[in-house]
Amino acid sequence: SNLIISLSFIFNNLEMQCDKKNKITTFLTKPIYDELVIVENNLFDSHMYKEVIKQYDEVSDLINLDSNIRERLKLPQRSLVVTFPFRRDEYDDVETVVGYRVQHVLSMGPTKGGIRYAPDVNLGEVTALAILMSWKSAIVGLPYGGAKGGVAIDPNPLTRAEKQRVTRRYTAELLPIIGVDKDIPAPDLGTDEQTMAWIMDTYSNFVGSPQPGIVTGKPVSLGGSITRRESTGRGAVAVGQAAMEKIGKNYKDSRVVIQGFGNVGRYAALDSYERGAKVIAVNDLGGAVFNKDGLNIPELFKHIAKNPSVKGFEGGEDYEGEILEIECDVLIPAAVGGVITSSNAEKIKTNVLIEGANSPTTLNADKILRENGVMIIPDILANAGGITASYFEWVQNTQNYLWKESELHEKLIDVMITSFEEVWTISQKQNCDLRTAALIKGIKRVAAAKLTRGLFP
Ligand code: GLU
Repeated sequence: SNLIISLSFIFNNLEMQCDKKNKITTFLTKPIYDELVIVENNLFDSHMYKEVIKQYDEVSDLINLDSNIRERLKLPQRSLVVTFPFRRDEYDDVETVVGYRVQHVLSMGPTKGGIRYAPDVNLGEVTALAILMSWKSAIVGLPYGGAKGGVAIDPNPLTRAEKQRVTRRYTAELLPIIGVDKDIPAPDLGTDEQTMAWIMDTYSNFVGSPQPGIVTGKPVSLGGSITRRESTGRGAVAVGQAAMEKIGKNYKDSRVVIQGFGNVGRYAALDSYERGAKVIAVNDLGGAVFNKDGLNIPELFKHIAKNPSVKGFEGGEDYEGEILEIECDVLIPAAVGGVITSSNAEKIKTNVLIEGANSPTTLNADKILRENGVMIIPDILANAGGITASYFEWVQNTQNYLWKESELHEKLIDVMITSFEEVWTISQKQNCDLRTAALIKGIKRVAAAKLTRGLFP
């Protein structure tokens, strides 16, 4: 078997990237994140990992975290690296790709987190994201530890058949460590409902019976939850509105700019529009569209159903500049990580930043934005609607129970607002920003679970 638990040292300090045809090449880390104080170099190191650990260290100091727990939580409990071949549609063309699944903490229940397909996915990034998933679950009070997975491949040039083969083989490689009550994947960057359907089908074939609870974010026809697709974007806007009310502002009077028009960005746009806010600009990989009076988002949904990009939408003008730098009241980065750094933070002209994506803001940029008076709703709270709706989907699958759409929406908003209020209270008591307050809540809960269970053996 080409299963390697705890990894071979070959991968130490190497990161994998794929060229256009997705063949593996090794290269030195791309410096897209700000340089930080070097943390002890380990197998799981990466720019994003350094950021996550620096954040964690600062909060651990603040809450005087037990030193044994503190060191333990810096490393994931279980990591799997696999390499596997997949066949291109041209039959003779076989390529080898690298896949990962990292489970951070196994103390509170099964682990949970998405799977991303992107060319620069590496062990360090997946580990950092798995750690963030632990804090995220704990902040919204779900009975999960954090996990994340990924395949180092660009999904965009792949045909449907190629994507299907990659997904099925990756799932087969993950079999020893995933399971309905072990580790439950979900969509993330570059994966979607169809990807989850293939994972469910592959897993079910190995087990010998249908296993809808093995993934969340599935199509509704397979037991997916009707509100899962919309929940991350809608949850982010709900928390954004609650946060703005605290500072005497109203979401509906806002000009909103959204980077990314995927699952998160498009429903954040729709929710903003439905609340009466003006969504003045959105973009995707193909370009950007701008309208100072607000884009008609339902019309933009119709446009995107027939066209590859938001660019070219008749209800606005194509926009060539940097969308993050447009003056607005609410900015929602809802695409990839590491987009707001110390090199562009000064150019951001918004009052409120809602982090729809995971890790869009570096720590240096976070500091600059706060000094400039920007209120930041951090990813681990703002985008927690995704995993919350995933939890409802998983409960429905494991209990064979069905909630109505309105009940699911109500439950989602209830969890998001209750969690926000708790984080807000911590921020007031500790006189700290919302990211620190959210981390305090998440880290304390995970640490308490580990301490209470005690040490085996
Ligand atoms: N990938 C999403 C996230 O980063 C959702 C994870 C899930 O639903 O398990 O939060």
